[in-house]
Amino acid sequence: METKVTMDKIVNLCKARGLIFQGSEIYGGMGNTWDYGPVGVELKNNIKRAWWKRFVQESPSTYGVDAAILMNPRVWEASGHAQSFSDPKMDCKSCKQRFRADNLIEEHSKGKVSAESMSTEEMQAYINENKVKCPHCGNFNWTEIRQFKLMFETSRGTIDGEKDVVYLRPETAQGEYVNFLNVQRSMRAKVPFAIAQIGKSFRNEITPGNFIFRTIEFEQMELQNFCREENSFALYEEFKAKAKQFLLDLNFNPEHLRYHDHEKLAHYAKAACDIQFLSPLGWEELNGIHHRSTWDLSRHQEYSGKSMLYLDPITNEKFIPNVIEYSIGADRLTLALLTEAYDEETLENGETRVVMHFHPAIAPFKVAVLPLQKNLSEKAKEVYALLSKEFMCEYDEAGSIGKRYRREDEIGTPFCVTIDFDTLENDTVTLRDRDSMEQIRLPINELVDYIGKRVKFN
Ligand code: ATP
Repeated sequence: METKVTMDKIVNLCKARGLIFQGSEIYGGMGNTWDYGPVGVELKNNIKRAWWKRFVQESPSTYGVDAAILMNPRVWEASGHAQSFSDPKMDCKSCKQRFRADNLIEEHSKGKVSAESMSTEEMQAYINENKVKCPHCGNFNWTEIRQFKLMFETSRGTIDGEKDVVYLRPETAQGEYVNFLNVQRSMRAKVPFAIAQIGKSFRNEITPGNFIFRTIEFEQMELQNFCREENSFALYEEFKAKAKQFLLDLNFNPEHLRYHDHEKLAHYAKAACDIQFLSPLGWEELNGIHHRSTWDLSRHQEYSGKSMLYLDPITNEKFIPNVIEYSIGADRLTLALLTEAYDEETLENGETRVVMHFHPAIAPFKVAVLPLQKNLSEKAKEVYALLSKEFMCEYDEAGSIGKRYRREDEIGTPFCVTIDFDTLENDTVTLRDRDSMEQIRLPINELVDYIGKRVKFN
């Protein structure tokens, strides 16, 4: 299935309309870093709020945390990242481009061969036997496969110039594992319960790119469910369904989503599944649901020397809970929602309008206040003052009303309120709906209630 939106259209719209800019742009940029602008920061914050509402606020046994990015380096030994968080890298000696060997194999075989379960030697053999060429310059002139470390290191100065290595966390999940007992005790939580977090992660990705799809600094929204083994598979299935429902409730086209069960599992995992979305690049991972057994807590027990046993208050049993993880990238979801929302419509007068059909709850601005003429601005500013106490609002008095509507359509503002001369007479305004473009007349004192009901995420 094809979608008509292209990555170029999204990138250009994001720059022109204040959603996302290249990082450090005036210095020529910094590869694969992006800055959210005044419109983009609202969009992403709304997405994070919708996630938090669904998975924390409305889930009585889920507790939020905001853990430190810099953690004791032993955490990364316990998690296995210090030893093995790396990707198989190959450089093309002709054009100097860098690739992941597993991606080269999957692209060469058009997805028929999965490199997930291959060892480094097997990948090397496949590439040599099939003479897999560089996708950039077409030559077959590779370096050997080398493992490329994905964790960013920095150092913490101590005494006399000695320095200790610390890592920028490559995932947020460890913040929940190390706080398992703190949360359980302070909140008197009973298994099954979950700890959730939204925060930044950092990965020195070999092949970042495709706008905000894969970046070296990104935000994750994830939660770790702690449960008994006998309930773990039911919970895993429950989260597969919940994760998908969340996306459908954000107006994803169901045909643009699919489950992808992992063929190869990490040695400790009992099941793993991604939800993929149909992006302008094809089917891509959007989020993951993983059954991680007792591995994480057992490893922290081993490395920290602190017991991670949970005491069941009813049966008095002591056990280490199983973990069901659900994790989604806030930036990747933002990209997916941008591509889902994008539409080009031909109007009755033959003109085209670009419109972002965001779910109103995530739309950057809920309403735009537009005086028909500049001499109506005093009244319009009163309406703006009223609405901006409740919602993020735009105020725009420059240019023709048609152009101002188009501008709001392009950033997905669900409602436009127009102030005209009748407003001065009878305190009513015109309210225009982004999707249908229909206009109704409403008293000013009904606006907050009318809009408020339509911009909720339930
Ligand atoms: P991928 O296979 O795409 O590298 P992953 O399987 O390593 O992802 P996880 O470690 O499970 O990803 O991370 C959970 C989620 O975090 C992913 O589903 C994705 O939405 C997001 N994510 C992971 N890496 C990045 C990145 N470099 N940039 C943006 N988002 C990311």
